[in-house]
Amino acid sequence: ASLIEGRNVSKVYATATAPLVALSDVSFGIEEGEFVSLVGPSGCGKSTLLSILGGLEERTDGTLVLDGKHHDAPRADIGMMFQTSVLFPWRTVRENVLLPGIILGLERKQQEARCAELLSMVGLDGFGERYPSELSGGMRQRVGLARLLAHDPRVLLMDEPFGALDEFTRETMNIELLRIWERTRKTVIFVTHNIGEAVFLSDRVFVMTPRPGRLEGIVEIDLPRP
Ligand code: ADP
Ligand code: ADP
Repeated sequence: ASLIEGRNVSKVYATATAPLVALSDVSFGIEEGEFVSLVGPSGCGKSTLLSILGGLEERTDGTLVLDGKHHDAPRADIGMMFQTSVLFPWRTVRENVLLPGIILGLERKQQEARCAELLSMVGLDGFGERYPSELSGGMRQRVGLARLLAHDPRVLLMDEPFGALDEFTRETMNIELLRIWERTRKTVIFVTHNIGEAVFLSDRVFVMTPRPGRLEGIVEIDLPRP
């Protein structure tokens, strides 16, 4: 069975005017360790689907199964990252990365060691005692990436994580993300509206096709790695 399975997932937003169908009968399976991209034009429901997987939004209909268990928000198993990482400005880089572990009550010594390792992994050696205001946008996303990995989630949900960065920085970050993925084999679901980026990164690309007010479904393209 797949690690993550969605069956006929639908989402209707209540709005001031008519109800808005953001997802309609979307079904998919994602295997453990897979890097999957979710692509499609703006408004096709990518963020909605990711938010449902992360437990930030409730689905209107359908079923969602994680590792054989029906669930709505398996928080410790899931890490989410967005276009900009909201960092605590009065906390150092190190303290920001330690935060998820503190919230989850993980062992402090172990987390400190892991934090040093992660900062090195994302190219922030020597930046642990800096404050977010001293960092560039790219470096703040590196902090976000380290924080995402800090509590060792099984599944990474990334919503255009480098989309706000300039092209060179984005490509660099994409390559680093791939290196990290090759080392950790986390299950990654990566949202982008850039098909080139999706093809570069993923094992499989889910293309979401918009229809007037609804979604047709998901087309899968298999991209075997060399
Ligand atoms: P994408 O990430 O592909 O750009 P979204 O999931 O953000 O698409 O949006 C899908 C559709 O749902 C869009 O029509 C959007 O306007 C609508 N939508 C998203 N969030 C909300 C919300 N909180 N309330 C009402 N409509 C929403
Ligand atoms: P576009 O012309 O729309 O930018 P490309 O296919 O050239 O489309 O690239 C799209 C995105 O895919 C790039 O901005 C980058 O994020 C990613 N990408 C493509 N090729 C590479 C690569 N060799 N290394 C890193 N990222 C890449």
